[in-house]
Order: sequence, then structure tokens, then C-alpha cells
Amino acid sequence: MFDWDVVIVGGGPAGLTAGLYLSRARRRTLLLDKETVGGYIRNIELIENYPGFTEGVAGAQLAAEMVKQAEKYGLQTEPGDVISLELFSGTRWVGCANGQGFTTNIVIFTGGSKNKKLGVTGEEELAGRGVFECAFCDGGHYADQVVAVCGGGDAGVTEALYMAKIASKVIIVEAMPELTATAVLRDRLNADPRIEVRCGIMVEAITGKDKVEAIELVEAASKKKETLKVDGVLVHIGLEPNTDYLEGIIPLDDHGQIIVNDRMESEVPYILAAGDIRSGSPRQVVTAVGDGAIAAITAEKLLQESEVN
Ligand SMILES: Cc1cc2nc3c(=O)[nH]c(=O)nc-3n(C[C@H](O)[C@H](O)[C@H](O)COP(=O)(O)OP(=O)(O)OC[C@H]3O[C@@H](n4cnc5c(N)ncnc54)[C@H](O)[C@@H]3O)c2cc1C
Repeated sequence: MFDWDVVIVGGGPAGLTAGLYLSRARRRTLLLDKETVGGYIRNIELIENYPGFTEGVAGAQLAAEMVKQAEKYGLQTEPGDVISLELFSGTRWVGCANGQGFTTNIVIFTGGSKNKKLGVTGEEELAGRGVFECAFCDGGHYADQVVAVCGGGDAGVTEALYMAKIASKVIIVEAMPELTATAVLRDRLNADPRIEVRCGIMVEAITGKDKVEAIELVEAASKKKETLKVDGVLVHIGLEPNTDYLEGIIPLDDHGQIIVNDRMESEVPYILAAGDIRSGSPRQVVTAVGDGAIAAITAEKLLQESEVN
């Protein structure tokens, strides 16, 4: 007998939806998360494109409701930083950083993504001393100060719009010739006098003695260099999946995301993936939720088949 029917790795919208479905199917389901359960949406001020909320919904509220709903049906959640997966004939073993491990029939990976780093001098050295990733979590430290936001995609622009409510000035630095954010977000940027947009500009370094003092920039076309005095640098230049520990165990695509079929199954039997972590994910809450439901329905079918055989 396995410890669990299903172990879900990651408690964001995808994992919580899978957990909700499997708990309602009365499957012994454990959800592990290395941080607070709820996933990335806990950090989003307002989600405006999740159906059913005309005025939008606070990310923290949506996360809390998802957790409450899944736990109501018996989903077991535990803290656990999963660092290994071992495949044996007939069982799977999920190992955590604290040495704990669980045997299970099925594993669903729903670990989402982490922020890509700029990879420039000063980024790591000044992390937490002016370099930050989340406006909603840390933006309050920069009241009436100047903040550069690196990244002009949806995530970067969302963060910049939030920062503009707090900071005296926000400068978006984007390496591409144009912003890639959705039109509605670009319109909001244009209407905000506190935000300046600089495209075709690369970040070369972040500088400062004890805290961020400036950012070194270079124009991609002319190679002209510039030093911009700033108090904070928020980095949101893209995402990479939380799959480092799965390399060589589950087939991953060129971006490191888990390759799945339309039932959310990887090529490895009984190993499923859902949400931002799976190959081709549009990285939206609504798609993560849909993936989570599909993965749970597949898991339920696999469990039923294994009971028959
Ligand atoms: C700034 C920003 C704004 C956004 N705004 C919107 C928006 O307005 N609308 C929208 O639809 N989407 C938005 N998104 C995208 C949305 O947040 C994601 O698509 C969604 O959270 C994906 O859900 P998920 O469950 O796949 O992963 P996540 O929400 O990332 O959850 C993954 C969970 O897994 C845990 N985890 C990771 N690795 C491990 C491990 N090894 N062991 C244990 N636990 C682990 C993490 O701690 C995390 O809790 C935004 C994203 C960003 C960055």
C-alpha cells in the first residue's frame, strides 16, 4: 500500500484544483508546497481576467478561497520542498529537502515557475537591498523613490503599474524594441505620468555600495552607455519552470518545461504535470486551473484502471 494515492507537488491554482477534484473523488491526496500554499497569485494585487469576478479579484483572496475549498473536501496539505523523484517498478517516491519521503501511485507536478535573473553584476549582491521581484510584497519600501522595472511583458508592466502608485517615478527598461505586454496594460501605462518606458535598452550592471544606487544601461542599437540613478530595481524579465531536480528523470522541452499530452501525462507512466510548469502553458490562472482539473481526471482514471488490473 502506498502512503498516498496521489502526491501533488506545488500548491498554486493548478495543484489546488487537482487536489480539489481528487479529494472530492475520495482519493488519498497529499499536496506539498515549499512556501505558503496558494501559489504565485498570492502576490498579485488584482486579477482581472479570471472569469466570474466582474470587478476583478485580489490574488490573495482567490488563493485563500482555493485552499479553503480544496481542504473542505479533505485535501491534505503539508510544507515540503520536493527535491527528488525516484521511480521504482510499481511505485514512485517523492523526496523532500528535510529528508521526508512519500510513496505514491501517482505524482502530479504543479510547481509553476520562478523569475529569470538578469545575470548581471550586482543583481545577486544587492538582492534584498534594492533588487527585488515583487511589487506587492516589497514595493512599500520604495515610497516616493525612483524604481527601475526590468521587463516589458505582462508581468513587468503589471508590477510597474503597481509600483507607480507608491514610487515617485518608475522607469521600465525593456531589451526588445517594443513592449510585449497586452494592449490593455500598455494603455494604462500610457495614461500614467509617473511611468517612463525605455525600449531597446539592455541592463549591464546594478551598482551601489550597501544598497542599490544606480543601474548601468546600454542602448542595443547604438551601444551608447548610460548610468541611471535609481533606488530600487525590480526584475521581471521572464519565467523559468521549477524543474531543475527533474532533469534526466522526466522529458523536458527546450525551456525546461515538462512535456505532456492532452491528458497532462508525461512520457513517464503515472507522472503528470499541470499549470505553468508544463510545456506550452499559456501561463494564466484560468489555464492552470483547467490543467489541474484535466490532470486530476486523468489520475482518477489511472487509479480506477490499476484497481481493476
Ligand atoms: C507579476 C505577475 C502577474 C500575473 N498576473 C496574472 C493575471 O492577472 N492573470 C492571470 O491569469 N495570470 C497572471 N499571472 C500568471 C499566474 O500567476 C500563473 O499562471 C499561475 O499562478 C500559475 O499557477 P500554477 O499553479 O501553475 O503555479 P504557481 O502559482 O506558480 O504555484 C506553484 C507552487 O509550487 C510551489 N513549488 C514550486 N516548486 C516546488 C517544489 N520543488 N516543492 C514544493 N513546492 C514547490 C511554489 O511554492 C508555488 O506555491 C501573473 C504572473 C506574474 C508573475
